[in-house]
Amino acid sequence: MPRSLPGRFVIAAVVMASVCFVRAAYVTEYISGITWDEPKVIQPDPVPSDAIVLFGGTDMSEWSGGENWDVKDGIATAQKNGITSKRNFGDCQLHVEWASPEKVEGSGQGRGNSGIYLMGKYEVQILDSFDNKTYFDGQCGAVYKQRPPMVNACRKPGEWQSYDILFTAPRFDDSGKVTKPAAVTVLQNGVVLHNHFELLGGTFYDRPPAYEKHSDKLPIHIQFHGNPVRFRNIWVRELADLPFKPKE
Ligand code: MG
Repeated sequence: MPRSLPGRFVIAAVVMASVCFVRAAYVTEYISGITWDEPKVIQPDPVPSDAIVLFGGTDMSEWSGGENWDVKDGIATAQKNGITSKRNFGDCQLHVEWASPEKVEGSGQGRGNSGIYLMGKYEVQILDSFDNKTYFDGQCGAVYKQRPPMVNACRKPGEWQSYDILFTAPRFDDSGKVTKPAAVTVLQNGVVLHNHFELLGGTFYDRPPAYEKHSDKLPIHIQFHGNPVRFRNIWVRELADLPFKPKE
């Protein structure tokens, strides 16, 4: 008499379990031999506990030029000049929240223009690109004049948006030659715009990208381009290779 379907299933399950058991008895676990330090425990909320807060809503003391920006109700509004962090950063994770002006004025590059300059040299564009066309490698989220964002993830003018940027600083040899280009991963409002894009050099308006040897760490700059772009919650985490002891 043929076996019932549940009966066949039970037999198959018993056979498979036996095979797995026998195999486990003869398999040796792979061990890399590298001795890793234990990852540091941090509190992720509301701001990662190992982050440096560059603007928490009350003062611009972390920024040169910040005294000229208008700070009110936890928000810093761009005016008069760009701002430059007093501290220097190399490889880092940067979080910035920003909003282009609610009142729409100007067009193209003249609407809600600002920008995040990693190391003061490599710009991730801030622009009101909601229903506002411009050259694609200059629109919001572009690595300026090098690479358009993968998508246009802009919210409406006046709405808060976020950038989460992972930046790897370029490396140079003694002669000034690039041994490893700079790279950025950029998320706007949680959406990927760049996935480890390797920069061709500094970002310029009037000349092609080019590298010039510089220090391992330099300030972050936020552009003032004539528009009252608002900012809040700016923090940065310095990134370093995990310490480890190689296999002996
Ligand atoms: Mg700009």
